[in-house]
Amino acid sequence: MSDRISFERLNPEIPMRTYFFAVAFLLTANLALPADNAKDSLTRWKISDRSRPAPPVITPATPSTQPSAGKAPSDATVLFDGKDLSKWLNGRGGPAEWKVVNGALEVAPGKGDIHTAQAFGDCQLHVEWAEPNPPHGKDQDRGNSGIYLMSKYELQVLDSYENKTYADGQAGAIYAQFPPLVNACLPPGQWQTYDIVFHGPRFAPDGKLLRPARETVLQNGVLVQDATELTGPTDYMKRPPYTPHPAKMPLLLQDHDQPVRFRNIWIRELSE
Ligand code: MG
Repeated sequence: MSDRISFERLNPEIPMRTYFFAVAFLLTANLALPADNAKDSLTRWKISDRSRPAPPVITPATPSTQPSAGKAPSDATVLFDGKDLSKWLNGRGGPAEWKVVNGALEVAPGKGDIHTAQAFGDCQLHVEWAEPNPPHGKDQDRGNSGIYLMSKYELQVLDSYENKTYADGQAGAIYAQFPPLVNACLPPGQWQTYDIVFHGPRFAPDGKLLRPARETVLQNGVLVQDATELTGPTDYMKRPPYTPHPAKMPLLLQDHDQPVRFRNIWIRELSE
């Protein structure tokens, strides 16, 4: 009897555990649904439906100040927290050889680009960077580095504070493609922020491009790239077409022979 359901509207021949598993299955299936912000979710739920799953609760990021770095949100993957380079590798797959100086990651000129051990695709990325002070050089040789999404698509890092260069090569540019909407640079030595939303390109099984990569960037809280559709991977003095690549690839930071510093780097992977 203890195994049998006693409500008369339910079939007494069906063991209680069958109902239990059915309910458990439905709950689990509900939790396993993709993020509830896609367009098709408008048809999946009634308007102001109280049974619509609530978004996950997280602890938001704390803002950085000029002297000190803030904290990543609780659901982010922290790629550099001011202490070590354990998440980063050099171009040969060995330990990254850049320096950690006063809680910042500093380019070691000549040691080469570094990239994350983990691969990422669509993401929200937060990176802070500071230019050498006093500044050295001019044009493209002043505080040049870069953030390569998927190791292929460069968001330029440059000291573009009172430093002339070509528009699609200044800070906030999708390098050699799209200048930033405005120049929102702070003076050298000050910490600047990039908040990036990146969606990688999509390829058909035969390698045909289905959708280009798309990138939104706020520099120091100001919109500099607004869902910009990239022409293809980054190159110098040319714009090569897309070639198919995996859906996830490492994030890369550029060694352009100048001791640019980075801190408080975190990433949140985005679902389709
Ligand atoms: Mg660069």
